[in-house]
Amino acid sequence: MTRLAQTSGLTDVQQEIVSTVRDFVDKEIIPVATGLEHRDEYPTEIVEGLKELGLFGLMIPEEYGGLGESLLTYALCVEEIARGWMSVSGIINTHFIVAYMLKQHGTQEQKDAFLPRMALGEVRGAFSMSEPGLGSDVSAITSKGVRDGEEYVLDGQKMWLTNGGTSTLVAVLCRSDEGHPEGTAPHKSMTTFLVEKEPGFGEVRPGLTIPGKIDKMGYKGVDTTELIMDGLRIPANRVLGGTTGRGFYQMMDGVEVGRVNVAARGCGVAQRAFELGVSYAQQRRTFGKPIAQHQAIQFKLAEMATKVEAAHAMMVNAARKKDSGERNDLEAGMAKYLASEYCKEVVEDAFRIHGGYGFSKEYEIERLYREAPMLLIGEGTAEIQKMIIGRRLLEEYRFQG
Ligand SMILES: Cc1cc2nc3c(=O)[nH]c(=O)nc-3n(C[C@H](O)[C@H](O)[C@H](O)COP(=O)(O)OP(=O)(O)OC[C@H]3O[C@@H](n4cnc5c(N)ncnc54)[C@H](O)[C@@H]3O)c2cc1C
Repeated sequence: MTRLAQTSGLTDVQQEIVSTVRDFVDKEIIPVATGLEHRDEYPTEIVEGLKELGLFGLMIPEEYGGLGESLLTYALCVEEIARGWMSVSGIINTHFIVAYMLKQHGTQEQKDAFLPRMALGEVRGAFSMSEPGLGSDVSAITSKGVRDGEEYVLDGQKMWLTNGGTSTLVAVLCRSDEGHPEGTAPHKSMTTFLVEKEPGFGEVRPGLTIPGKIDKMGYKGVDTTELIMDGLRIPANRVLGGTTGRGFYQMMDGVEVGRVNVAARGCGVAQRAFELGVSYAQQRRTFGKPIAQHQAIQFKLAEMATKVEAAHAMMVNAARKKDSGERNDLEAGMAKYLASEYCKEVVEDAFRIHGGYGFSKEYEIERLYREAPMLLIGEGTAEIQKMIIGRRLLEEYRFQG
């Protein structure tokens, strides 16, 4: 069952971490995932198990109590977790992005204040760029942070916060005009504010409301919410990195590693769909033989497995590029684009292999079928990935004539 999606050149430590996570997924996630998902129930016990495994601090440096692992190790763990249930990888992902942004851009005081508790999973991160009127076009953000003495006052409405209810630290991107006169380019007048809050719904601190969970077609269990700021007061030392005007770049840096993560999720879901399809195809008989013996079904399995392999290879390549300290926006964009498209296709093929039973909620593939589309949207749609890829290609292959 593990012939596909192997990764060469892993250290013993990496192999041990990934195989521990795989065991955890097989024993603790797969048996309960579909039931929890159908009930839209938060996987509290699974999250406690992930905390014990140290996964909330996987990439947080050891000096702050984390495991100090690479993006590749993290992505391989995410792939395993998404193979079990994509929503669980969503619970870790926004936490990981916020921890990464703090590690890369935070002041020393911010790192000391948050990273040790994030490594333990005591502080849990969410990040918030999107608003009701925009997702792809981040430069159009309207939420504002205005300086008032030693504080900033935040106003605006945010949309689509993964872990909006369960998180206790939200990185919120706002426009901040202080020091950036009118006419400053939009991406140079944005600031990331580190907003601490109580978990839950309603008014979670004065001026900050999390209205409730958005009801979604899939990706259930994990809470996705709006966030409303109405005169929310934030101390000036909670500007990420201590300087305003850098928020756009900080968020894009976070989203770039997030894209490798979404690619890894696509790989994991596609692997599970392949496993379900290849297993069902050998049990279901039509016209006197298992459907796996019909060439049309074998061809489907061949196509599915090839896509699983290709997506995994691109995801690993993008992660390794970042780990080597090189710019990886081209590779991350390609991996995210390909893995999410292939994931949708592999899931669809596994669904077709299941015939009518794929439509029944008793079969796991029904859940995967509703989960896969989220990957086409999160961390930038396919069109946005293609814009990034296209621009980078034109930089790399500039016409010299
Ligand atoms: C379940 C879920 C969880 C999410 N979690 C988070 C989160 O934690 N934090 C957060 O900040 N956001 C989050 N998002 C928001 C997500 O990042 C956005 O939905 C996504 O970026 C797309 O933005 P949009 O929905 O506004 O679509 P739009 O930007 O309105 O795009 C609509 C369509 O137009 C296309 N399009 C847009 N611009 C162009 C262009 N220039 N050229 C060609 N086509 C274009 C898009 O590809 C898309 O097909 C989440 C979304 C979902 C569904």
